[in-house]
Amino acid sequence: MSGLRERLAAADAFVVAAELVTSRGVLEQRDGQQVWDLAHRLAECPQVDVVSLTDNPGGNPMIAPDMLANRMRELGQEVILHFACKDMNRNGIESRAWKAASAGLHNILALSGDYPVAGQSGTAAPVFDIDSVGLLKLLSDMNAGVEEARAPDGRLAGTDFFLGCVVTNHKLHEREVLPQYLKLEKKARAGAAFAINQVGFNARKDSELLLWTRARGLPLKLLANVYLLTRGVARVFHAGRIPGVVVSDELLAVAERHGAGEDRGREFFVDLAAKQVAVARGLGFAGAYLGGHMPVETYVEILERAAAISGEQWREAAKEIRFDRPGEFYLYGSDPETGLSDGVEREEYLRSRRERRTDLKVPARYRLSRAVHGTVFARDAPLFGAGARVYERIERSSPGLKRAAHVLEQAAKVPLFDCQDCGDCSLPDIAYVCPEGPCAKNQRNGPCGGTRDGLCEVYDSECIWAQAYERLKAYGEEDGLVEGPVVIKNNALRGTSAWANTFLGRDHNAKNIGAADVRTARGTH
Ligand code: SF4
Repeated sequence: MSGLRERLAAADAFVVAAELVTSRGVLEQRDGQQVWDLAHRLAECPQVDVVSLTDNPGGNPMIAPDMLANRMRELGQEVILHFACKDMNRNGIESRAWKAASAGLHNILALSGDYPVAGQSGTAAPVFDIDSVGLLKLLSDMNAGVEEARAPDGRLAGTDFFLGCVVTNHKLHEREVLPQYLKLEKKARAGAAFAINQVGFNARKDSELLLWTRARGLPLKLLANVYLLTRGVARVFHAGRIPGVVVSDELLAVAERHGAGEDRGREFFVDLAAKQVAVARGLGFAGAYLGGHMPVETYVEILERAAAISGEQWREAAKEIRFDRPGEFYLYGSDPETGLSDGVEREEYLRSRRERRTDLKVPARYRLSRAVHGTVFARDAPLFGAGARVYERIERSSPGLKRAAHVLEQAAKVPLFDCQDCGDCSLPDIAYVCPEGPCAKNQRNGPCGGTRDGLCEVYDSECIWAQAYERLKAYGEEDGLVEGPVVIKNNALRGTSAWANTFLGRDHNAKNIGAADVRTARGTH
């Protein structure tokens, strides 16, 4: 049997992935046995190409997917292993990655992960040492061969990971939708070869995503999320209890109506899922990603019903999957015939760009920070060299002067930015919004998928990346929101002067542009 990589490479590929959520407790217990039985039956199901195993979904501790993945591989089943960043730091993740590679598990879905909501004796502390983009880079670097002085040729042998990611496209505001698209592009640059979108029930949004990735020339295979609803699940999704997953008021009303029927809406929900599969195939997605709690027979039923929607009938089906929300943002217009995306940027959006119109107020301190950055802190700023020389002297002077300079820096940055003294400053990367305090997941390469109509997944404040998008749009620079190299924070710098680290080439920016360029900027080469 060919692997996921080979299947997706085929020009006419339409891959079927089934998501399997692991259980709590040891595998031999009742819940574990039920999951294992389903895993076993999915492995025997010819319609399912790959089984995707979740990693503590919803921030709840579950049995690690690795063991199930190993057992399924022994059955000859292709699997995707989810890797989330919420419960492990980069070393733990690297260690887990070596283990997966050694076991022949190559398909990895890289995620930031949901914020932890549970734990024994209280809620667990989140880790988020790196984010999904940092994780893709880490795994891509392992593929290229990690530097290791003792290894022959100075590098470890490369792994063979086939990397995927998630995009959460069913968002309400422009300041959420476009940052998600741009982050997807960054994920592709960091090594993602396939992407799965988050649960949603809006064919126009899905067609827009597909057209956008094509317009940008992204080398990504997209799998469309298809979720089998029930009335109960629709209520949970509608209440926003699963980050990034949307069920609109209208869809909830439909689910309530059908759910009150004798079959509890089964016929309707299976049919809706089948139509989602057919529409995904018709639109040109590379596959469908089926989720929801169901027996194997239901997977098969959904796929058979989808196959029965032949020819161009999927276009009619698409008209029934149009559950958006009032005022929902679209980048492209819609085809009046089908209601699907037409791939043409809407005039209203273009006008707002031309006028640099923002939905959020751009604070004066951002305008001031930009000016100071351009004058002092940017590598090509007129005063960068002078600043570097000052900090070289401070470094060589007494510890007392060093401390005083650091206190002075904090006196400016704490009131202005609520600086947490991480020492590896990302303020210029995120339009002068700090990712340390107000971002629950320390996302330094774009927004996570959990925003709630612009608000943070965890806090009741505007997502830092939504703020950054608006600030940049005021200057016509929003396309560059996440451009540039992958940002990975160096934790060794915590509690040290970020200004000194910038001027003396110790922070992530210096690493990304190269030490020689820093020396040139300092005028000390
Ligand atoms: S601020 Fe934005 S990116 Fe950070 S955790 Fe909240 S929603 Fe996610």
